[in-house]
Amino acid sequence: MTLANLGLSAEVSAILTRLGVPQAKLSGGTLAVRSPVNGEQLARLAEISAIETDKAIAAAHEAFLEWRLVPAPKRGELIRLLGEELRTAKADLGRLVSIEVGKILSEGLGEVQEMIDICDFAVGLSRQLYGLTIATERADHRMMETWHPLGVTGIISAFNFPVAVWSWNAALALVCGNSTVWKPSEKTPLTALATQAIFEKALARYVAEGGKAPANLSTLLIGGRDVGEVLVDHPRVPLVSATGSTAMGRAVGPRLAKRFARSILELGGNNAAIVCPTADLDLTLRGVAFAAMGTAGQRCTTLRRLFVHESVYDKLVPRLIQAYGSVTIGNPLQSSTLVGPLIDGGSYERMQKALAEAKAAGGKVSGGDRVLQNEAADAFYVRPAVVEMPAQTGPVKEETFAPILYVMKYSDFDEALTLNNDVPQGLSSSIFTNNMQEAETFVSARGSDCGIANVNIGPSGAEIGGAFGGEKETGGGRESGSDAWKAYMRRATNTVNYGKTLPLAQGVKFDV
Ligand code: NAD
Repeated sequence: MTLANLGLSAEVSAILTRLGVPQAKLSGGTLAVRSPVNGEQLARLAEISAIETDKAIAAAHEAFLEWRLVPAPKRGELIRLLGEELRTAKADLGRLVSIEVGKILSEGLGEVQEMIDICDFAVGLSRQLYGLTIATERADHRMMETWHPLGVTGIISAFNFPVAVWSWNAALALVCGNSTVWKPSEKTPLTALATQAIFEKALARYVAEGGKAPANLSTLLIGGRDVGEVLVDHPRVPLVSATGSTAMGRAVGPRLAKRFARSILELGGNNAAIVCPTADLDLTLRGVAFAAMGTAGQRCTTLRRLFVHESVYDKLVPRLIQAYGSVTIGNPLQSSTLVGPLIDGGSYERMQKALAEAKAAGGKVSGGDRVLQNEAADAFYVRPAVVEMPAQTGPVKEETFAPILYVMKYSDFDEALTLNNDVPQGLSSSIFTNNMQEAETFVSARGSDCGIANVNIGPSGAEIGGAFGGEKETGGGRESGSDAWKAYMRRATNTVNYGKTLPLAQGVKFDV
């Protein structure tokens, strides 16, 4: 079967029907949805207007006022049911992710597994939204810290993790007592419709079990940047978690700051790995190959810069170029495929531009050319590129959202560390070494300046248990595990006087 006659639109409409999305929603609108697998049009969706968006947010605020009163462990029960519904829907939703984004099927399924994992995490969290009891300097007083629901949580997501990013935010926000309003990428609205339908199934079960939940607890807004802007500017939204390019964050961050709203910004990365003289090169090769070529280079944590010590450069880099040449590129729904398509033609053009700039700066390019255009003229498959660079210059310092790995030689460990940190972005990083001093230095205060710093694994493929996010132009936000939940709640410090006198702090006297 060629790419052209896969019949994806029929398959998509069957999947969406099974997941509970009405067929009527899939046609007649202005937003054309295409599969990057072969360019086939999958649907034409209606987009929400600014006035309707405003009303939807007002309704979400009403939902918040009720939901915040439901005890947190009961809110957790809703997320437990969401996790169950996601388990049931995993095969369908995972395949839909692959069709709509073009990532290989195991990664599509892995994305849904990540949603299930964060639901499990959030259920446990619903009984652990702990505050502190703090020593007070005053007799017969108690001081404590309590965490309260915050309000409507706005979620803006990128195309490359079309559903997991929603779940990282929504599972936490909902157990924290917030309602959610989600503006997915305009490139991936079908997986968002499916996710909303799955959420509604969980909600119906929760209500049938006797659980109390208001209408409009989780709202989906289908539309483009203009819809996102209404969400960002709305006074009823105290927190927006926005995932996407640094350009998006530069637009969104100041608008939120202007009205003193909180932001969780999860922006672009330009992730590096250092390969040291003692590295296990077989392990390194596998780690680098997945991190750099996986998801066709379209992960925020994709490995883009590789610094290889001069003593192992000639042992590793030719093998790497060989691995790049032998990787199977094509239909992401086939199990033998490791590299699927780019999201669209714009992405392909940006990749070619970066490769031309790298060449002009002295880079030696292997791969990077377009393939399979005869099978599907509107799909953009490329051979992943390895570019041996004389120095970290030009396009190496930018995030090009495509499978380009810039490889550079180093001789001194401190120089490699400096190069790792010498880019505007600060998301993820790795070191491959069996030297304990190098490994520990890399993860120390004078090591990698990124939000994620790994040893002997690549920079991509994080688990949900840790806080996820990065520094500098990556935006500084943290979501998912650890104590990221605190960003979705309002902290109050309470001091209670259970005595008969009124001592003032710091010994201040004020007798009237
Ligand atoms: P994008 O910036 O084009 O769009 C992301 C989302 O922001 C979309 O929903 C879009 O409609 C919305 N948007 C854009 N401008 C807006 C504005 N001014 N106001 C409100 N909303 C706006 O990103 P993309 O191409 O979908 O995704 C790729 C980018 O996302 C890469 O840079 C990648 O590194 C980044 N990303 C980061 C993370 C992370 O966790 N750090 C995760 C995934 C993707």
